[in-house]
Amino acid sequence: MICRHCNQAKVNRPRGLCWSCYYRPGVRDQYPSTSKYARRGVGNFCGTPPVPTAATSARPGSAEKIAILAERARNKQSLWHPDDVTMNPPVTAELLAQAC
Ligand SMILES: [Zn+2]
Repeated sequence: MICRHCNQAKVNRPRGLCWSCYYRPGVRDQYPSTSKYARRGVGNFCGTPPVPTAATSARPGSAEKIAILAERARNKQSLWHPDDVTMNPPVTAELLAQAC
């Protein structure tokens, strides 16, 4: 394999770089890690995150809902809001009256 930066030397450092490019200031930062063990995504943390400011009307499993979950994870908020739309609507007195 040839170095991703200079396209000349053989790769002998991580990120697909040669020794000279890997240790030259500024070059390493231009190339993300190629390791499957590298950190990716928005990270993880312990504790109780704050509840999102607004509930969503996006249905569970929809692309819109997944985008909202990603946004909440980026903002270090709880993924779930108590008033988010669920697959089953909550049982209300009106629904009970209709069932009888
Ligand atoms: Zn190089």
